Amino acid sequence: MKPWALVTGGSRGIGAAIARALARAGHPVYLNFRSNAAAADEVLRAIREAGGTAEPCPFDVADAAAAGEAVDRLLADESRPIGVVVNNAGVAADAAFPALERDAWERVTRTTLDGFYNVTRPLVMPMVRRRWGRIINISSVSGVTGNRGQVNYSAAKAGLIGATRALAQELAHRGVTVNAIAPGLIETDMISEAPIETILKLIPMRRLGRPDEVAALAAYLASEDSAYVTGQVIGINGGLA
Ligand code: NDP
Repeated sequence: MKPWALVTGGSRGIGAAIARALARAGHPVYLNFRSNAAAADEVLRAIREAGGTAEPCPFDVADAAAAGEAVDRLLADESRPIGVVVNNAGVAADAAFPALERDAWERVTRTTLDGFYNVTRPLVMPMVRRRWGRIINISSVSGVTGNRGQVNYSAAKAGLIGATRALAQELAHRGVTVNAIAPGLIETDMISEAPIETILKLIPMRRLGRPDEVAALAAYLASEDSAYVTGQVIGINGGLA
């Protein structure tokens, strides 16, 4: 059996698609989410109906104590080694910078950056000991180019790119790869209030991306085929950047 994969924010959108794709590729999946148990149940059911294995693992990635406890509990079962982690949980709280409240700054940076730290750090040494691991961080085109009204989100997603590149260098000779995916506009709940018609004009392909398209890239980065790919930031954005 392939190693287990932990997908954060797997109850909806891109994370749900990634969880399904990894399950199709033969990874049993720990499906993390924060609060939407009904949505998570649907993803778990879809994976199981397709013949895959998945278990719920709810916790807030930004909560160091809760995340640490949950990941330690998963690691305690040595019959289920975790070889893949997808740091996908993320939130946006947009505002022009002068109006950006501290709460919006902290919610976004803590979910993305503390979330990466809280979830990934305990998983690294077990991967190193097994000489195999795949760490996949879901950044954003906003972290690559910056985006007005998203100083918090762009900072968090750019920070995640820095973490990806540094950790890739630390782990490259241990069989553990670390890469970031930088999606453009993907059709999920997160962009439900975005001015789609205006945005479409800026996207050379004139369409939004689909969660499944991001999931296919994540599945590649989780596979054997990507063994020589590390420290990369791969855009998937219809030509936007
Ligand atoms: P959605 O809003 O559709 O889903 C977000 C998911 O993250 C949900 O499963 C949610 O769980 C979970 N989540 C949020 N906060 C936490 C937390 N603190 N702890 C655990 N889980 C949490 O988002 P998308 O699918 O659109 O986005 C997924 C990732 O992709 C994010 O990192 C986002 O920044 C990034 N991205 C998205 C783009 C887009 O256009 N959609 C573009 C570029 C990047 P629950 O429902 O239970 O709260």
